Amino acid sequence: AKLLGDRRHIAFSEDMAQRSIEMMNLENDLRHALNREELELHYQPKVSGHDGSVVGAEALIRWRHPRLGLVGPGDFIPLAEESGLIIPMGRWTLVTACKQYMLWQAEGIAPDSVSVNVSMRQFTDTSLLESVRDVLETTGIPPGCLDLEITESVMTGNVERAVSILNGLKSLGVTLSMDDFGTGYSSLNYLKTFPIDTLKIDQTFVRDLSHDTKDAAIVTTIVTLARNLGFNVIAEGVESHDQLAFLIGSDCPLFQGYLASRPLPVDAFTEFLRSRLPR
Ligand code: C2E
Ligand code: CA
Ligand code: CA
Ligand code: CA
Repeated sequence: AKLLGDRRHIAFSEDMAQRSIEMMNLENDLRHALNREELELHYQPKVSGHDGSVVGAEALIRWRHPRLGLVGPGDFIPLAEESGLIIPMGRWTLVTACKQYMLWQAEGIAPDSVSVNVSMRQFTDTSLLESVRDVLETTGIPPGCLDLEITESVMTGNVERAVSILNGLKSLGVTLSMDDFGTGYSSLNYLKTFPIDTLKIDQTFVRDLSHDTKDAAIVTTIVTLARNLGFNVIAEGVESHDQLAFLIGSDCPLFQGYLASRPLPVDAFTEFLRSRLPR
């Protein structure tokens, strides 16, 4: 038994060592990913529940790794945050999404806005405001067509500072969405002081909407809350017609999810926009 225990121990440490080597490689690879143009943005439509029209596009980052294939953000955003790479990466994302929006606009197929995710580390970095101002200037995107998605986590730090950053962004003319709404720790109180435009109902509430009466109650309540406070509201992670029917019944006007489309590589998404042109 002792021998077995030891072997297990050895196997375990080798595994751990292998893992940390892989992680170190990944961080090293990530450093070059930007220059080697291995990062790409996929886009997922934000859709009107009433007529199916595409009102927006959310940019979601992917890494086309030379050996590992397509790597999702869950596997490298935390690494990018730790290493600080998230700052140049975030700048690249902003520029790329806004340039792409302008191409859609030139073709006459642009939705109302393009949304870019901004994580906690990016949000608190002093360069954010400057980056956004810069991208508006260099790409010429109308400020109102750029939407930034932030999470409630920005409220867990210095609230006054967060509000002042948000006000700074708003003064540039961009819109702000509160992502994953309902999953954070913050109090409802911030909704009074936050200059946000849209609440995004987190997909965990949407998942079991059709058979979980508590989730259904939460969704209905968020929609009412948004309406009464003058915010837009959108539900994410909508996969079924049942979920959509419930949302429409609850007066949630917009949705996002596999039911409308998965996030698509840029060419496929552009085709999607063309096929949805109002006739
Ligand atoms: P998020 O912003 O909450 O994005 C929604 C996630 O749900 C995306 O995963 C999307 O692909 C997925 N999703 C969309 N529709 C459905 C659906 O109907 N069902 C299910 N089960 N999932 C759906 P993804 O692309 O893996 O992104 C994960 C997270 O990574 C994002 O969560 C966001 O927090 C972060 N992220 C993505 N792109 C960026 C980026 O450019 N910058 C930063 N800072 N974070 C990003
Ligand atoms: Ca998002
Ligand atoms: Ca979300
Ligand atoms: Ca999320």
